[in-house]
Amino acid sequence: MRYPEDLVKAIEVVLEHNIWRRRQTINLIAAENVMSPLAELVYLNDLMGRYAEGTVGKRYYRGVKYVDVLEEVLSRGFSEVLQAKYVDVRPISGTIANLAAFHGLAPEGGTIASLPTRAGGHISHNQVGGPKALKFKVVELPWDLENFNIDVDKARRVIEESKPNVVVLGASLYLFPHPIREISEAARSVGSYVLHDSAHVFGLIVGKRFPNPLLEGADVTTSSTHKTFPGPQGGLIASNLGQEANESISKAVFPAFTSNYHMHRYIATYVTLVEMREFGEQYADQIVRNAKALAEALHARGFNVVADHLGFTKTHQVAVDVSKQGGGELASKLLEDANIITNKNMLPWDKSAVKPSGIRLGVQEVTRWGMREGDMVEIAEFIKRVLIDGVEPKKVAEQVAEFRRQFLEVKYGYDIDREIGLKILDSVGIRLA
Ligand SMILES: *Cc1c(COP(=O)(O)O)cnc(C)c1O
Repeated sequence: MRYPEDLVKAIEVVLEHNIWRRRQTINLIAAENVMSPLAELVYLNDLMGRYAEGTVGKRYYRGVKYVDVLEEVLSRGFSEVLQAKYVDVRPISGTIANLAAFHGLAPEGGTIASLPTRAGGHISHNQVGGPKALKFKVVELPWDLENFNIDVDKARRVIEESKPNVVVLGASLYLFPHPIREISEAARSVGSYVLHDSAHVFGLIVGKRFPNPLLEGADVTTSSTHKTFPGPQGGLIASNLGQEANESISKAVFPAFTSNYHMHRYIATYVTLVEMREFGEQYADQIVRNAKALAEALHARGFNVVADHLGFTKTHQVAVDVSKQGGGELASKLLEDANIITNKNMLPWDKSAVKPSGIRLGVQEVTRWGMREGDMVEIAEFIKRVLIDGVEPKKVAEQVAEFRRQFLEVKYGYDIDREIGLKILDSVGIRLA
């Protein structure tokens, strides 16, 4: 090869990563996914190097006539599936979408009511993250362990007393839909906005297996576009508020929180949206079945699966208290050595984020690779071998890689049509010998 040796080595690292993560491991990180072949190919486009500050039709840069078409089509597509009056697809991530929405909706020194991280709140909802940088006050929404959900009565009191500017629902550990209707009523009575952060469950919402927060009474929903919705990493804001509030959000997105919008993701996001229109209900349905099957299989093998008395989960996620197996840090490390990728996760009774008692499992990616309920039983068996039977993780790693070989094609998405594929490569000047 005619490249410097250090470069060849660095490229090989990526190749090894690709093969490990796509062919040898069971990925159960609840926040990740893989795009379809077509979405991945169109992700390679000239827009990766361009700017288009401003909004459609009102840009600070020239050369954006095609960008305007794309941004418009993508925003309109999301408006339709969400039944939202306003959609902003420019935020480059869910975190940026949240901070822009908070900034657009709350005045300086304003107050946000949200869940603490141990009850599933995302860092961008809390004093550990952006709200601190923005100097917002944060009040905690109370959690009901019995229902594994927000305590509606206590939350109503907190909202009435603290009159927050924004009440944040939605979470990173998200097993059961939050009571959007009830909280929205309380919020409305004191003039607070309700923002549902749909990052984790966006694909389930689009696939109609999770309530659409905007129809349940939320004013705004923010999201990532790469978790259960299997697009490229990115963010969005959808709102049913009036023009003034939407403009305020738009101005927070730009010029406050972005300058470039990573616009090469627009077409890959649109491919994913169209795929979800076609396969989304099937995909979301299988995700929810698989999560339940995995939870049941783990429970049957002696694991302390969270919320067993509530049927474990209604999303893509399963939470397991692995205190007896050495805690989340150790358990996730042993599983990684066995080619099963998870994350340690705080549970509502935890004090430490670094040494939490839980692991969080998400089945959205393995579902996309074509796995079904029976395969969830196999996964539970692998996890048991490592964490309960104490089998050497390296041994299990080989079995996992072997098992994984049956699932090497992304389902619920489009393959690459050869003619289009060659045109795309040619249009960016890539010619393979
Ligand atoms: C993942 C996540 C986000 C945003 O993540 P990004 O990586 O910034 O896209 C926001 N909110 C919740 C609840 C999340 O879990």
